[in-house]
Amino acid sequence: MKCVYCCNEIKEEEFAREHVPPKSFFKKGTSSLITIPACRACNNKKSSDDEFVLNILSMSDLISINPQYQFHIDKMLRAVKRPQKVGFIKEVLSSTHTVITPEGSKNAFTFDESKVSGWAGINAQGLLVYKDYIEHCNYNHSTIILNLLKVELPEEKQLLELILSFAKSTPSKRVGSSEFEYWIQTQDKGYVVIQCFYQELYFLTMVEHCKI
Ligand SMILES: [Zn+2]
Repeated sequence: MKCVYCCNEIKEEEFAREHVPPKSFFKKGTSSLITIPACRACNNKKSSDDEFVLNILSMSDLISINPQYQFHIDKMLRAVKRPQKVGFIKEVLSSTHTVITPEGSKNAFTFDESKVSGWAGINAQGLLVYKDYIEHCNYNHSTIILNLLKVELPEEKQLLELILSFAKSTPSKRVGSSEFEYWIQTQDKGYVVIQCFYQELYFLTMVEHCKI
């Protein structure tokens, strides 16, 4: 069996079950999570990106205003006590600033959006591997992030309308209770994968047939 990331044959003792999306995004005990084969080294490398994205999400309104996702905040609070988290926390704190919104002033922070969209693109390919559309996660890909809570620009609104109407007309696959949902559409150039996390955060990924 080959690793979906490095494409090397996986030795039995190196075999790791890669969760797409990561297990940590779901409540403990959630069944029927999606897994694809990876080698242990690639699996470990991916885990730090998974954790980065989950930390970002835990600090966003997305999770904090939804009591059903409180388990993430709890996890995050436990995790920040670990010494290896100091760098991440410092980075976030240094970017904290106040923004004025229609609901009043709020604290905001900046983060590396390309890291998050890159992560979502790899995740989208993982879903395509799982569904046997492709064999590995090394295709050209680009992702647009749309947060339902923060859609402001007219073109963002337009794109969101499009995604939502597509989502309504096409059956989705669901993982967990409401944590994750995804849609796949085949196109001439490749595939369009829509992922929705926590009912609010949409990633629209185009995966092309050509390899990176
Ligand atoms: Zn590998």
